[in-house]
Order: sequence, then structure tokens, then C-alpha cells
Amino acid sequence: MGLKPKRVEHDFVYFCPKCGNETWRTMREVQVIEKGVCECGQILDFDLIEGIKGKVVYKKKAKPGPKAIPVAVTAPVAPKKADLAEFEPAIDALMTLGFKKLEAMKKIKNALHDGAYGGDMDAFIEHLVMERV
Ligand SMILES: [Zn+2]
Repeated sequence: MGLKPKRVEHDFVYFCPKCGNETWRTMREVQVIEKGVCECGQILDFDLIEGIKGKVVYKKKAKPGPKAIPVAVTAPVAPKKADLAEFEPAIDALMTLGFKKLEAMKKIKNALHDGAYGGDMDAFIEHLVMERV
């Protein structure tokens, strides 16, 4: 909450009807002083002003922007168990080499994690088999 003004000072600007000179009056002056004299000698006859209706419209404070959300770093995720379904041939191949199924799956996951699978299942199986040697 910032400070709010208790009072508003307006400047009232009048123009001399004779010479056009500007005459500035404060809020206090326009409330009590009815008469004035222009530099040109013209008597100025003011209507007294009681006050000004209107209210202060505050600028809305800029809301602080949303907190920067740390960008999730997408770490390469090893395929889940279900994703290994298509690697059944590779699992079989490893099992024939003496791996237990879980070991075979783990080996395949690791190989996938390393990006060893390029879409060619035979090459992938060969990679797995060669890796064993
Ligand atoms: Zn004047």
C-alpha cells in the first residue's frame, strides 16, 4: 500500500477578458478571492469555487509476473517395461545366449539409453551380442 494524497491542489487558469493574459489561481484562492486585477489593469471578477468533484483514479500496479518456472530438463528416459515389447526378438536372442529375461531387458534398456537402437532390430541384436563378447 503506497501513500495516498490527503488533498489535491489544482491550478486554475483564467484568461483576462481584455488582454487574454493568463492568471493562475490556487484552490485556496478560488475558494475565497472573488476579485483580482490583471496586469493590464482589468478588474477580474471570479466565480468562487467550492470544490471539485471527482475521485483519484490510481494506476494499477503491475502485478509481478509469474515466477519463472524452471524448464524441466528432459533426461533421456529408459523405455518402460511395456516399451520393450517390440524388443522381444532381442530379449529372445539374449536369452538364448544365457541371459535371464530380466537381465536381457536390463541390457536392452541400457543399450537403448545409450542410443544403440537406430531402428534396425537385427543390428541392435548384433550390437547386444557383440557387447557381450
Ligand atoms: Zn488583462
